[in-house]
Amino acid sequence: REDALHCSGCGVKLQGEDSSKPGYIPTQALEREPIICQRCFRIKNYNEASSVTVEQSEFLRLLGQIAEKKALVVHIVDLFDFQGSVISGLQRFIGNNPVLLAVNKTDLLPKVSNWNKIRNWVQKEAKDMGLKIEDVILCSAKQNSGFDRLLDAVVRHRGNRDVYVVGATNVGKSTLINRLIREYSDLDQELTVSRYPGTTLDMVHIPLDDGGAIIDTPGIVYPSRYSELVSAQDLGIIMPDKSLKPAVYQLNEGQTIFFSGFGRFDFIQGERQSFTCFNSSRIKLHRTKLERADELFADHAGELLAPPSRDNLEKLPEWTRHEFKIAKGQKVDVFISGLGWVKVNNDMGAVIAVHVPKGIKVMLRPSLI
Ligand code: GDP
Repeated sequence: REDALHCSGCGVKLQGEDSSKPGYIPTQALEREPIICQRCFRIKNYNEASSVTVEQSEFLRLLGQIAEKKALVVHIVDLFDFQGSVISGLQRFIGNNPVLLAVNKTDLLPKVSNWNKIRNWVQKEAKDMGLKIEDVILCSAKQNSGFDRLLDAVVRHRGNRDVYVVGATNVGKSTLINRLIREYSDLDQELTVSRYPGTTLDMVHIPLDDGGAIIDTPGIVYPSRYSELVSAQDLGIIMPDKSLKPAVYQLNEGQTIFFSGFGRFDFIQGERQSFTCFNSSRIKLHRTKLERADELFADHAGELLAPPSRDNLEKLPEWTRHEFKIAKGQKVDVFISGLGWVKVNNDMGAVIAVHVPKGIKVMLRPSLI
């Protein structure tokens, strides 16, 4: 039967192979009525959103369908991986619908941060990346902070629009949706998952008490983020879980810092100056001479320079080198998507290089802190 192949909740095509992809259903669940995917099942029975992921092209196809709806788009990004988790093409796909930018994981920044400055930075960076944003809300799903402001902003901008929540993987989307569900729907009542008539959207439609709905979209996978490349075990190393403790280094030209065995930062040319590393505390920073760096890595990757283990290292793409000339007067971070960033503290100019597996986004950006 044709309809047996689709979820009667979200309409996605059902599959039994990969629980992290849309439409997953365990074989035994095929006997239940109605037949719904695991993601819809969990929302319906446990009021709980769970993460599923899709490739970028598939995601953009999904996004395109938002353009025709009356939508309020809540775009969640990860403050630790801002440039890596922003959906830069978002605006082209969603038409004139308004966007709220929820910047999650503020708990990871040092507590003494200047939040006004960070808000302005976010606003400017988002604008430069082509996003038109109604409002920026800084929040932490983990600390439960900023949600009141996010809910206020949703109420203020929503009118009679449905709320579409979009984001890259691992930004905290599920955590946030669960909060929204709890806020907006009657918990004693089983949620119904209702199908959009006629379309296959791969989006879970969560009806709210007031007649509107929250729509959970799959998390988008960007292969340019380190967090997408590493093993689950190494992900727990590179993703910080508490507020960053910046490490300051005074470097002479010709010195290198290794980030465990995940990558390295070379100070190639310039006057002696200071650099600050913002990484997970489980990454070991190892300073050495630039002229020894290649050899050190060849001999000690997976041991002195670990994790990743030799085995896991072999599963990653080969390292590639990104060189940057930082002009006098430029105040920048050297950003490595998913791994963190190095702040260039003095604006006296420098030539630096970063080595990381091929494909990972590395760039200069105006310094965040
Ligand atoms: P999703 O993949 O976007 O649905 O994200 P999840 O809600 O599953 O969260 C992804 C990871 O980020 C998990 O390890 C969460 O514990 C973590 N996380 C979510 N929100 C926060 C936050 O506000 N701060 C920190 N430090 N971690 C968070």
